[in-house]
Amino acid sequence: MKRFLVAFLFSLSFLGCASLSRSLNFFSLEDDVLLGRQADAQLKADARYRFLKPTDRNYQAIVDYVNRVKDKLLQANQIPHEEAFDYRVQVINDDVINAFATAGGYVYVYTGIMKFLDNEAQLAGVLAHEIAHVAHRHGSNQMAFKGITRSVLAEALKGKSQAVQALAGIGYELAMLSYSREDENQADESGALWMSKTDYNPYESQAFFKKIRELKNAPNPPEFLSTHPNPENRIANIERVLRAINAKNDGALYEREYREFKKLLP
Ligand SMILES: [Zn+2]
Repeated sequence: MKRFLVAFLFSLSFLGCASLSRSLNFFSLEDDVLLGRQADAQLKADARYRFLKPTDRNYQAIVDYVNRVKDKLLQANQIPHEEAFDYRVQVINDDVINAFATAGGYVYVYTGIMKFLDNEAQLAGVLAHEIAHVAHRHGSNQMAFKGITRSVLAEALKGKSQAVQALAGIGYELAMLSYSREDENQADESGALWMSKTDYNPYESQAFFKKIRELKNAPNPPEFLSTHPNPENRIANIERVLRAINAKNDGALYEREYREFKKLLP
């Protein structure tokens, strides 16, 4: 029964998202990986993105912790295209309250948002949301919508200059992308549903938006709010989805572990 409900909810959310850009996504799954890799190289070449480096203190412990949370989400669920994408979470050392994903398995999380969160379940909520953007291929949907074609991608990868130029901004484009409202809803819904299949409390994906809502009127509202508006609607939407499947509201938070983890952050 639960399974049926989940399938039903998914088909509902897909119906709701059958937008033009989605139906025009001619990129293959391999193209998603190439787009993600291309964007990753561009982000790393840009000094504005201060990636946590292997030479930084506690690098391995931080990256391992974050990726363990990611693995737990992946193991517990049947995420679309899970085999095609090699999910990896990379850490950017900056006090920005944000996380983002590009395509093909590339997910990025700032130390700022990790410090802001209270427990591991909340981090899982943020990562599940970003994984959902990748799994539902929102990045390449948007690229397709913007007229980046497969041949441009193929040419650029061969180093042909015009095509390279066409792709020059892609790293930022994908990193800065504001997904459509449908995409955001789908990422919220899938993220919460996937979390409900782990030992984490899936309602913690809401808790994050509740925390961020309080900062809305702060002098410097967090960057996450600019790409993820309307926390109020999103809290309500996640509530609806989780209630529909009778999701548990007493899952694990791992507060103590998370407190220890935060001490490792630069
Ligand atoms: Zn999002």
